[in-house]
Amino acid sequence: MPLEDDDTVAVELKNLDYAQIAAFDQEAADGEALLFYENSQIENAVVYRNKLSGRIGNFFENYDVRIELHGKEITNSCTCSSERKICLHAIALLYGWINDADDFMNLSHVLADIEKIAKSQLMDIVTNILQRQPHMAALFLARKKLDWDEIDIDSFT
Ligand SMILES: [Zn+2]
Repeated sequence: MPLEDDDTVAVELKNLDYAQIAAFDQEAADGEALLFYENSQIENAVVYRNKLSGRIGNFFENYDVRIELHGKEITNSCTCSSERKICLHAIALLYGWINDADDFMNLSHVLADIEKIAKSQLMDIVTNILQRQPHMAALFLARKKLDWDEIDIDSFT
C-alpha cells in the first residue's frame, strides 16, 4: 500500500520531507547526520502510528533509537544518551524513513494480522518465544501497562 493511502501511519510522519530533516540536521548535528546515515545500516526499523524505532550504526557500534512525533514536536530517546534534544542517530533514522519508508515494518499491519490468529495458536507462539527468551515472561506478567518506550528488553537479560 502506498504510504499516502495508509491510514495507520500518522500524518506527521507522512508529511515529513527532506528539507525538514536537513533543517534538524543543521540545527542539531551541524549537518553530520546525513553522512552518518549514508555510512550506516538500519536494522529492526519499525513504524507504529506516530512512532519510529530502529537500530542504526555498523557492526562495531550501533544505537537503538526511538522517535515520536506530535504535530511539529519531535521527541526521541537513544542508547547514545546524548544531551541533545534530538541526536545524530535519530536524525539518521528520519533520513531512513523519508528515503525508504517501505523498509520499515508497519506494526499496525502486523498487529492486525496477529489479531486474526486463534488464541490457542497464539499460546503456542508465546510458548515458543518464552522457551527461547524466558526473561520476556516479565513483560507478559507486568501488572502495570507499559508505554511503548518503557519496555527495555536489555534490562530483562
Ligand atoms: Zn543517539
